[in-house]
Amino acid sequence: MSCKLNCDLEELIVRIPNKENKQGKFMKKIKILIAILLIAISFTGCRLELPTDEFVGGKGLLSVVFIDTGNSDSIFIDFPDGRKMLIDAADVNDKNKIFDVLREYKTEKINYAINTHPHSDHIGSYPEILKTYDFDKFYMPKVEFDNDFLNETAQVINSKNKLFTRGKAGMVLSNDDVYAEILSPMYDHYGEENDYSIVLYLKYGEVSFLFTGDAENKIENDLLNKNKVPEVDVLKVGHHGSKGSSSKNFLNAAKPRYAVITTGKNSYGHPDKKVTSMLNAMGIKTYRTDLSGNITFTTDGKTLNPPETER
Ligand SMILES: [Zn+2]
Repeated sequence: MSCKLNCDLEELIVRIPNKENKQGKFMKKIKILIAILLIAISFTGCRLELPTDEFVGGKGLLSVVFIDTGNSDSIFIDFPDGRKMLIDAADVNDKNKIFDVLREYKTEKINYAINTHPHSDHIGSYPEILKTYDFDKFYMPKVEFDNDFLNETAQVINSKNKLFTRGKAGMVLSNDDVYAEILSPMYDHYGEENDYSIVLYLKYGEVSFLFTGDAENKIENDLLNKNKVPEVDVLKVGHHGSKGSSSKNFLNAAKPRYAVITTGKNSYGHPDKKVTSMLNAMGIKTYRTDLSGNITFTTDGKTLNPPETER
């Protein structure tokens, strides 16, 4: 840490003349007085610059809404300062559910529009949402597959003269009261399309969340091997509770107090019984959008309230 005042002060002390005449002595006293004053000011200045881990709080609420869009993902986040984040936009027929939440939180602009990966159950409603709402940045991983929804999303982004931002590990989206960092993808190529998913860590004060998209065990292991699994309060369970995600080692490392499974009527067997039983056995309080409807967490950065649910 540098302190500019201190550096200036050292120069000043060196330059104090050492003349033993009366005027010199008087001037010396004045300069010593100035030096003492500057030391006092510089200490105040330095103290203000000290980094602190302590969260001051009182800056408003962060809300995280897991929207009940069926067996798909759409998670809305309202920052304490009013910024809005949308992680995924579910299927094409789910737009009204998402619009309802955007309206409820008086959204004018989506600051962070994120698509974890362009499968239809994560990108389906993005074309309509991006046509309707202004947005700052659209994040998605660099993928080697596409579909009509991605192409349509790209057309809307182009028509608004915006760009894709390629989300990848290490990218910090927000670094103020709310810290948001992409933890995965770490690599350019994956064997499974789900493993391209953007995994996002978000922390407000002392309360943290992990959003895993449809990332499966391979990604969980990559994160474990790199010591990159953060301990969090709330975990969005990977891939709608599929048996290919949520390994015991991963859950042990993340140690969530709450888990949320975004699921609905489906033919894939989501959520898998093995996953729900394990969450239960580990004492992780688990909510499911198919059973509870919209699930809303709010926190002031100190306390995480138990979620409010639609039903
Ligand atoms: Zn999915």
